Amino acid sequence: MECPACKSTFAHVEIDGIQVDICKGGCGGIWFDTFEFRKFDEPHEEAGTELLNIPVDPTVKVDREVRINCPKCDNITLMRNFFSVKKEVEIDTCANCAGVWLDMGELNHIRKQYASEEERKADAAAAFDEMFGPELERLKLEREHKLENARRIANMLKFICPSYYLPGNQDGGAF
Ligand SMILES: [Zn+2]
Ligand SMILES: [Zn+2]
Repeated sequence: MECPACKSTFAHVEIDGIQVDICKGGCGGIWFDTFEFRKFDEPHEEAGTELLNIPVDPTVKVDREVRINCPKCDNITLMRNFFSVKKEVEIDTCANCAGVWLDMGELNHIRKQYASEEERKADAAAAFDEMFGPELERLKLEREHKLENARRIANMLKFICPSYYLPGNQDGGAF
């Protein structure tokens, strides 16, 4: 297989039963056939020098602006997503075969971000709170405001309404 970024020939290795293609002596990128690279993405996980110290050809330059194609699938351009909410590392993934491409140094960078999966998730939760927290609060206030209005209207009408329609009297009904 050929490296999708610099066209060098991949070196195929198997680490812990996982098939990995390394652009050794080329651009230093790594191709994982599946999302199994997550077995190597935390600092306590053994990835070996094979993955963390890939010899590269310093004259090979990869333009990160150019989207690359999946080395396994025909005519599929890899999608680029941030690996975590830190938004420091963008990884390339194939929507067709679920392979993952990491540019040189990205695995090392990813491994430094979080000590564990729990830490990565906690950071994501905190970031989502920051992004959507105020919006959720606003919606809650809006809902309470509507509820208050509904109560007022119902109070005004309570002499003509059957008691069923008073707020709080339904099992999860209109108010
Ligand atoms: Zn390469
Ligand atoms: Zn693919």
